[in-house]
Amino acid sequence: MKMHQVSDHCFAVINEKNRVCDANSGLINCGGGVVIDTQSDLQHASQMIDLFGAVWPSMPQRVINTHEDADHVWGNQLFEGAEIIAHRSVPERMKQVAEPKESQKLLHSIGHFLTRIAMKTLHPGLEAAGEQLLEDYNFDNIELVLPTTLFDTRYELNLDGKPVHLIYVGPCHQVGDTIIHMPAEKVVFAGDVLFRNCTPMGWTGSFEKWFNCLDLIAQLEPDVIVPGHGPLCGMDGVREMKAYLQYVQNESKICFDAGITSLQAAKKIEFGPYSEWRAPARLYMNVERAYREFRNEPPDAPWDSAATFDAIYQVARAKGITPEF
Ligand SMILES: [Zn+2]
Repeated sequence: MKMHQVSDHCFAVINEKNRVCDANSGLINCGGGVVIDTQSDLQHASQMIDLFGAVWPSMPQRVINTHEDADHVWGNQLFEGAEIIAHRSVPERMKQVAEPKESQKLLHSIGHFLTRIAMKTLHPGLEAAGEQLLEDYNFDNIELVLPTTLFDTRYELNLDGKPVHLIYVGPCHQVGDTIIHMPAEKVVFAGDVLFRNCTPMGWTGSFEKWFNCLDLIAQLEPDVIVPGHGPLCGMDGVREMKAYLQYVQNESKICFDAGITSLQAAKKIEFGPYSEWRAPARLYMNVERAYREFRNEPPDAPWDSAATFDAIYQVARAKGITPEF
């Protein structure tokens, strides 16, 4: 984890591994201090607070959660007394998708030899994902701390005379997707509508919304974008992300029309230029999402996490690469 200065007042903490839970955070060091996303566990959140402490010594007075996923909200509790801001959907969604008990249970059971062996047979993907998480994360003692300042479409902060816009763009990757734009410094904090050099994991939303959101970021003409996952980028990151989603959507349609399942499709579709992106077998999730749209299913149809990780695992094995999540 390293801190980067992005502009005069914008900073980012970037996680280098780019695997699941390795999310980025941002800081705007004026107007009381604003932190954007709070990491996946208390240890990473503390490390992020220490790094940002070099450029904003007191505790930031505001936190923005770009969406409801655990890897962006599980450090909220360390910002005691801060105003936590997010889209109106986020508190309820956090209770649904970011309840820490299940993840705590998973990592504890993988820590036990016998349950690990049993799980390896039953859910090899979930077990492998859990083992990967155990390398870097500890979900003990995490409590959900929900946002309290909620907005619907746009929200504006005035930080010592410098405007910061929160723009709701969801659901494209997740229900609460929000981007943060600081026009005076030409910076966008994109949350998980932008993955850089790593395969996106889209949960709830539509391809169309996602394309619209990427077009909107392009219209804002930022010099620097802080993605939710992966290294800092400029407009090249937006173009590549859009090209990837278009590629997956097109290839998925061919497979869907041919009558094969989403899992078969994900095994068949070439990684192509995206084989160098971290965790390329996460392709399965994007294919499955495309299939849901082709079948006219609601964008918020729930995911079975165990089955999803198992499918990613199977795609990796079929492609002869080490399963990574
Ligand atoms: Zn994320």
